Amino acid sequence: MTHDLYIGGAWVPGRETRPNINPSDTRDSVGDYAQASAAQAREAIAAAEAAFPAWSLSTPQQRFDVLDAVGTELLARKAELGDLLAREEGKTLPEAIGEVARAGAIFKFFAGEALRPGGEVMPSVRPGIGVEITREPLGIIGLITPWNFPIAIPAWKIAPALAHGNCVVFKPADLVPGSAWALAEILSRSGLPAGVFNLVMGRGAEVGQVLLEDPRIAGISFTGSVATGQRVAQAGVSRGAKVQLEMGGKNPFVVLDDADLNVAVAAAVNSGFFSTGQRCTASSRVIVTEGIHDRFVAAMAERMDTLKVDDARKPGTDIGPVVDDKQLAQDREYINIARQEGARLVAGGEAQPTSSDGAPGFYLRPALFADTTADMRINREEVFGPVVSVIRAKDYEEALALANDTPFGLASGIATTSLKHATHFKRHAQAGMVMVNLPTAGVDYHVPFGGRKSSSYGPREQGRYAAEFYTTVKTAYTQA
Ligand code: NAD
Repeated sequence: MTHDLYIGGAWVPGRETRPNINPSDTRDSVGDYAQASAAQAREAIAAAEAAFPAWSLSTPQQRFDVLDAVGTELLARKAELGDLLAREEGKTLPEAIGEVARAGAIFKFFAGEALRPGGEVMPSVRPGIGVEITREPLGIIGLITPWNFPIAIPAWKIAPALAHGNCVVFKPADLVPGSAWALAEILSRSGLPAGVFNLVMGRGAEVGQVLLEDPRIAGISFTGSVATGQRVAQAGVSRGAKVQLEMGGKNPFVVLDDADLNVAVAAAVNSGFFSTGQRCTASSRVIVTEGIHDRFVAAMAERMDTLKVDDARKPGTDIGPVVDDKQLAQDREYINIARQEGARLVAGGEAQPTSSDGAPGFYLRPALFADTTADMRINREEVFGPVVSVIRAKDYEEALALANDTPFGLASGIATTSLKHATHFKRHAQAGMVMVNLPTAGVDYHVPFGGRKSSSYGPREQGRYAAEFYTTVKTAYTQA
């Protein structure tokens, strides 16, 4: 079955199709997905432009009904869509089902937000004049998403865009069009007027580029790598478009002498290796103080030994495959670089050519390095795979300094039983999100998401804060 593009309320074939390959078994194709041309991306923008005047004035009830219906369907179909997601991306079935449920919850949350458009009324500094501050839709929004959260990231961009009265042109990641297409199909039956939501699958350099350059697009919300993010920023800013970027991370997780060892190991294993380490909030640097260092490293290695790396959809799998051959090559290259830099490989790191059933896939046993230093490339560059390095620190102060010694600033975690250190860390960690005795990966959907430094640019995503990007503020003065 071919999966078409969705433009102006109609399903249309693309210029060509591309197979969607299962990384757990590369003999298996999820289906063929249309690839849009640049001209089709422009048609989608034109459709959104035509739909905007009416949709921008739609009632909160209309928006609620659409978003609530989409959320209900996602939740009802989470097992089926979770299976599709695990099959195309390679995260485990429970993780994938959880991600679909998260997408459903996000649509429900923004259905509620559609009913709560706030504003402010205040007196003018001049007599007899009133001032009202309101938010209006931004316009046509271009959404560009990465492959590692094939349905949750699209949901946390599409839902607030629609809730706040915008029209959308959505370009999902080339590697995982299946979940995006399924979401578009649900949206196509949700009661949205034609043109309000459009799906253009295709290559970033072609279809994505159109979204960056077209003057009709008022805002671009992008999640992906730093390199692409910088192009998005330059293109957007040069023509005055609003830009929101969520990019890479090199998130630290600090383990102090007074930590509960079980809590620390569970959090480090979860955020370092689950979802095959392919999370922007993964903690890839674990900074451990002297007194607990050796016990922590030994306990990590012991726990890692029990992790089952296998087909993403097989019951009992802890870690699925890497997403594709390119990412696998990158992970292995960093493992080699770390070795050459003098890091000690404590556990894992071997590629596994097949699943336990002999299916060819991109399997990699999670790798743990010890005796690493802050200046090594393994501690400075994002690997985006199941590779974690341990840095030894003398005390809390040094651990904090090491945690902040990175160009990134998405999430930062600490394992400690000290209220004093937890409190200090929450204030002084240079990151958009801080976790105490919790994995750095794993966030709520009703609160802001985003980072600092090279990790993020522009307003936060999710929760009520999403309004900052998806609306523009108007200040109205009235003399009675
Ligand atoms: P990527 O930058 O390669 O691609 C992201 C998207 O941009 C894709 O849809 C791609 O097709 C598109 N794109 C590529 N070139 C383009 C261009 N010239 N113009 C417009 N669009 C273009 O990233 P990826 O490999 O899909 O995802 C992995 C990266 O995403 C990692 O660095 C990870 O840290 C990051 N990420 C960040 C967050 C976050 O919230 N901070 C969340 C998930 C992933």
